[in-house]
Amino acid sequence: MLELQDKSLFVSRCLVGGEWIGAASGETVAVDNPATGEIIANVPAAGADETSGAIAAAEAALKTWRKRSSTERGALLERWHDLVLENADDLARIMTAEQGKPLAEARDEIRYGASFIKWFAEEARRIYGGTVPAPTTDRRVLTLKEPVGVCAIITPWNFPNAMITRKVAPALAAGCTVVVKPSEFTPHSALALGVLAERAGIPAGVINILTGLPAAIGKTLLDSDIVRKVSFTGSTRVGSLLMAGSAPTVKRLSLELGGNAPFIVFDDADLDLAVEGALASKFRNGGQTCVCANRLLVHDRVYDAFADRLAARVQALRVGSGFADGTQIGPMINDAAVDKINAHVADALAKGAENLTPRADLPAGHRYVAPTVLRGATTDMRLADEETFGPVAPLFRFSSDDEAIAIANGTPFGLAAYFFTENLQRAFRVAEDLEFGMVGLNTGSISMTVAPFGGVKQSGLGREGGREGIEEYLETKAFHIGGL
Ligand code: NAD
Repeated sequence: MLELQDKSLFVSRCLVGGEWIGAASGETVAVDNPATGEIIANVPAAGADETSGAIAAAEAALKTWRKRSSTERGALLERWHDLVLENADDLARIMTAEQGKPLAEARDEIRYGASFIKWFAEEARRIYGGTVPAPTTDRRVLTLKEPVGVCAIITPWNFPNAMITRKVAPALAAGCTVVVKPSEFTPHSALALGVLAERAGIPAGVINILTGLPAAIGKTLLDSDIVRKVSFTGSTRVGSLLMAGSAPTVKRLSLELGGNAPFIVFDDADLDLAVEGALASKFRNGGQTCVCANRLLVHDRVYDAFADRLAARVQALRVGSGFADGTQIGPMINDAAVDKINAHVADALAKGAENLTPRADLPAGHRYVAPTVLRGATTDMRLADEETFGPVAPLFRFSSDDEAIAIANGTPFGLAAYFFTENLQRAFRVAEDLEFGMVGLNTGSISMTVAPFGGVKQSGLGREGGREGIEEYLETKAFHIGGL
């Protein structure tokens, strides 16, 4: 049984118009603990009726929410932020129970998630319109910023808190109302945020949360004329389905999709820094992050030294339940994830890669996979083209800058890229040549509240966080005044 200081944060109902409801059909979806496979709760399988109810509640709430001053909206967000931090321990425990990540990482995510609420509470006061110089003296032209309206927020399981706050906070700050559909694997983290939003005084209907299977909820959200925007984080496959489904009603879209991040170690790199960067980028959240290094490209001259140092560190990583002290790699989210990771490793080994980190000490339980460093990776292997989404670091070899850039850019994805060099000219040249939305030089961590986050190519549309994040939830109205 999950131990919490405040048990009322663990809710297994949908939030619609301020009411905590079940599905009219009575159907539910089981949520399990990835470390044990045990069912921790059943949540309502919301369908078209509950989704229509949530959209109607968001539409009703929009009328008054958009008219509140930005100071008032910001103050309510500030209160929500404070409550999230006050309850960080319980929120982290709920997350680890349904997502599996080590408790320390879950706590970090709660703080990271809260930081978006704070940031956008402050940004609410900086939604500026403008004045436009008119072509004749009898005219004035102003630009007014207005909320987009009701937004559908669809989020993944890998960051069950922060992927929600990174969207909901700017939406609310801008004056929008939302219908949130969290991942079916991690609904309780979303529902706990709903409890705290209610406690903070955010009015009924401003945030609605639907649990259940995606197809019915997704279709009702897409078909609705009232929903004016879809903000989605998840796979490129589903993102492109949502894009097609948004076409008939011409919705606005923000899409944070899959990645296939290159991590380039040049021959002049500080190898200790590069190893630290690889550990941070590749092994956080068990490698289940969209920005995690998928392909490590290492210059021929430093390949062996880097491989040995990284392998030694990876061999020492502790695998286990997210609740156990000292765990660094928790269980993977589900069986499909484990199968994909194992298939990628098997394919690489069959095509000539060498496993530098064999281990025989994995804990019992079917969702644990070994953190692995693969020497001798080549571009014909599956893990060169597909997101592995697990703790596997394949090391590719290169011998010139042009070759490294060509391999790095040789993917339909363009989310994050990393490179390590001590040479200033190379730093600028490579940063400019990489076709990615985010580039890290001499660092493996690039996710922060203050900077825009997002991708190019098939990694998505739009930016979250930073100054840009709130724009995704605003329309610009041109106001023309004549007869002066
Ligand atoms: P997913 O695409 O399977 O699911 C994401 C969400 O979409 C879930 O809530 C799911 O229920 C929902 N969904 C699925 N089918 C739907 C449909 N037909 N209609 C409406 N909703 C639907 O992704 P996932 O497995 O949860 O997450 C992993 C993926 O997310 C990876 O590809 C990862 O790279 C990506 N991701 C991207 C970012 C980013 O910021 N770019 C961040 C985190 C994860």
